[in-house]
Amino acid sequence: ANTSETLGFQAEVKQLLHLMIHSLYSNKEIFLRELVSNASDACDKLRFEAIDNPALLEGDPELRIRVDFDKEARTITISDNGIGMSRDEAIANLGTIARSGTKEFFSQLTGDKQKDTQLIGQFGVGFYSSFIVADKVSVLTRRAGEDQEAVLWESTGEGEFTIASAEKAERGTSITLHLREGEDEFLDGWRLRNVLRRYSDHISLPVQMRKEDWDEDKQQQVKQDEWESVNQASALWTRSKSEISDEQYQEFYKHIAHDYENPLAWTHNRVEGRSEYTQLLYVPKQAPFDLWDRDARRGVKLYVKRVFIMDDAEQLLPAYLRFVRGVIDSADLPLNVSREILQESRDVRAIREGSAKRILSLLEDLAENQPEQYAEFWNQFGQVLKEGTGEDMGNQARIAALLRFASTHQEGSAQTVSLNDYIGRMKEGQDKIYYVTADTFAAASNSPHLEVFRKKGIEVLLMSDRVDEWMLSYLREFEGKQLVSVAKGGLDLDSLADEEEKKHQAEVAETFKPLVERLKTTLGDKVKEVRITARLVDSPACVVVDANELSPHLLRMLQAAGQ
Ligand code: ADP
Ligand code: MG
Repeated sequence: ANTSETLGFQAEVKQLLHLMIHSLYSNKEIFLRELVSNASDACDKLRFEAIDNPALLEGDPELRIRVDFDKEARTITISDNGIGMSRDEAIANLGTIARSGTKEFFSQLTGDKQKDTQLIGQFGVGFYSSFIVADKVSVLTRRAGEDQEAVLWESTGEGEFTIASAEKAERGTSITLHLREGEDEFLDGWRLRNVLRRYSDHISLPVQMRKEDWDEDKQQQVKQDEWESVNQASALWTRSKSEISDEQYQEFYKHIAHDYENPLAWTHNRVEGRSEYTQLLYVPKQAPFDLWDRDARRGVKLYVKRVFIMDDAEQLLPAYLRFVRGVIDSADLPLNVSREILQESRDVRAIREGSAKRILSLLEDLAENQPEQYAEFWNQFGQVLKEGTGEDMGNQARIAALLRFASTHQEGSAQTVSLNDYIGRMKEGQDKIYYVTADTFAAASNSPHLEVFRKKGIEVLLMSDRVDEWMLSYLREFEGKQLVSVAKGGLDLDSLADEEEKKHQAEVAETFKPLVERLKTTLGDKVKEVRITARLVDSPACVVVDANELSPHLLRMLQAAGQ
């Protein structure tokens, strides 16, 4: 249909555009990184679809990205011969933010420029970053496949865009930025090359610009017709570690994770043996908005022999490591591997186990050598890591050593105490790790169950996160020491009591025997037992559950969940 339509942006897009232009201006050159990143994704997608349908390549299999500029017209054009977009895809992909977590994102904006900039960065600026430097953006695109019609999408970034039928011989997408007043610095080959080298060197396809030669008559650089690559154009993860700078690792992370911030840490390895693969895995600095969203993007990108196969291959990592981003390139899997096959594959299981071990080593290293960074990690992802104690029994001890808790040993709710710290401070004669669980930190730290422990100077871990009860049902011991709730019956603190205390307790029991009998009769079958305890100091009485019964906290949670 040879029609032209004017359509409105989704309300959020309008809001985002406005915010972005103002808050990201100081780092405006990132538009180039985002557009090259998209072009590279589009080429990956084409290469993948062409495995089953080679006709999509239309006899032109050399995938590449080109960046050009026109001084007179004051435009920059970024073009690729990747998958392209149909009319419907252009409307959906460029006119809406189809991201989970969008609502939360907007609800967290404060109007404080610095905070919002960080949020926007986390959210991912993508295609819309074009509008930081352009007051009009034209996207000419044709989806791969010979019968596909081209479309021209245009917008001034002010609430509306138009879409019209167009002519385009070559498949793929060509994005032209009409620069705003004052942005002429980008109409310069040297400047553009610099930005591209800085941000896009990790791109595995050639990123090309026109050759330039010095013209004696004009006394300036003059562009030639010929194109040349400005990047190394080899997949970053295939290069040897010693040839990759930190900055390159960081830029690659931003590309694959769609993150604006640097990662916290990474691990890069080539694995040989039973199964052969390369992994480059990153731990982000910030949890994404949708960490708890079941439909959220998760997992890593899967490549087979350098051919992109899929995003979000969640089978390649256990669920409790879903915050990890990166690339896994397998030498063993077939190119036509599907998500279903991934679920069954032995190679995939080997990769998943190997990757989990690598990430645990990375975290152990961070915890030991960069405790401040580890604390940052723990604040962002500790809750998720805790799931590993139940999900990954094979690595339970390693995961347990990485856990951090609030404790009676210190003031405040910060989770900084490890189980090893705890064991290092255990009292003479103490052979258990004590904890209390509650709905909130305040409730945990004010629990009457803690009285006797405080009196005896025994440390108790204070747990109030949602996953804690669940975790504790799997994590029963650490380094041979049982984890025991202070709220459960039959606390065996005798070995910690001195002779005098024991004598005193016996006397007390004798004196109060009649009272206990009376309470038993009065309460009847509302209780199982009434007994004298040494566990309280200031409170007169407390309710405890049997060692093998559900804790009241878990009981309340189950009730709230309707069970
Ligand atoms: P993201 O890359 O995180 O998905 P972007 O805002 O950068 O978000 O891009 C939005 C979407 O627009 C992409 O997911 C893709 O579907 C589409 N898109 C952008 N650029 C291109 C391109 N050069 N070729 C094909 N599709 C593109
Ligand atoms: Mg993008």
